[in-house]
Amino acid sequence: MTYPILRVRLDVMEENMNRITERMSKLGISVWAVTKGISAPLEVVRRIEKTDITAIADSRMANIRRMKDGGIEKPFALIRIPMRSELADVAELVDYTLMSDRETTELYAKVCAEKGKLRKVVIMTDLGDLREGFRISDFAEAIRTAKRVDGRGVTVAGVGTNFGCASGVLPTREKLESLVRFASELESALGHELEVISGGATTLSLLKPDGSLFPPGINNLRIGEGYLLGRDKSANRNIPWLSQATMQLEAELVEIRVKPSKPEGEVGFDAFGNVPSFEDRGERLRGILALGRQDVYPNSLFPLDDGVEVITASSDHLVVDLENCGGRFKVGDILRFRLGYPGMLAASTSPYVTKVYEG
Ligand SMILES: *Cc1c(COP(=O)(O)O)cnc(C)c1O
Repeated sequence: MTYPILRVRLDVMEENMNRITERMSKLGISVWAVTKGISAPLEVVRRIEKTDITAIADSRMANIRRMKDGGIEKPFALIRIPMRSELADVAELVDYTLMSDRETTELYAKVCAEKGKLRKVVIMTDLGDLREGFRISDFAEAIRTAKRVDGRGVTVAGVGTNFGCASGVLPTREKLESLVRFASELESALGHELEVISGGATTLSLLKPDGSLFPPGINNLRIGEGYLLGRDKSANRNIPWLSQATMQLEAELVEIRVKPSKPEGEVGFDAFGNVPSFEDRGERLRGILALGRQDVYPNSLFPLDDGVEVITASSDHLVVDLENCGGRFKVGDILRFRLGYPGMLAASTSPYVTKVYEG
């Protein structure tokens, strides 16, 4: 088998998701499993489909199409607001679509109606993270849009919001209360209840599993990182009641040599346009792994082998400090890393990383 290898533990992910759905169902909250962080491999999705999640959510139509072709039967949600150029595909394949643009929503309703479909849309609100969604000052426009399309090609099935992504803004109970208020205004305007009031992603929601973050009314979350890594990047913390042993990246050492820790000579830009600076720690034992930015996001690698430190990476080489490893590694040995979210995203996307599914 060719290194680097991304070794994924399906049983650990499934157990994580079982714990999440169990806790959230006690709060009256349904869970959509978000698959984009690991590029939606069928091996993972087939296992997650067996849990009590209510939909599979992804940002890419290519992933949704592949999952559908692969026999996944759960409802699908498209959680990146759609491109106008993909609306015909969305109408064909997707059950729930997040929406934030008036004209795109109207166009989508028209496409669905022409196909004789009644698809669901979820109106997104922006409560401060400054990514997608109608802002509070645009709520009247959102309600007018919803009224125009509801029942004509699409059902307005819910509202949603997002935190912690583009700007790192964290959710609060007050912000979620304004989502619930918007939902009830929308319900009055439409004359029917909303199925989904979606309070966000992993961001803080699983670190407060007593529900103190959620006002009554919030009934859905879209969870990726929680079951995929057992972590919450918005708080930079592990979720204590979930496992982090869901995956590891393995790479092979191709050089080990004592070198100065401070580069020799004048320093210009590195391969990625940064001027690096390195602390002078004297001569150190260093290793090079056959792993680089074409495989992974190096800042998102956390060594599992004691004493290993990541120093820097170029496209194909990852330099590590092995001084504190007691000389136990030799060229040809394999080092193992946990991944953060960007590391998982890159490694699962890279065609150069061999994926192995176990458990
Ligand atoms: C990525 C994404 C999620 C899931 O985020 P996690 O942090 O992986 O839980 C949920 N909703 C939207 C709109 C997203 O883009």
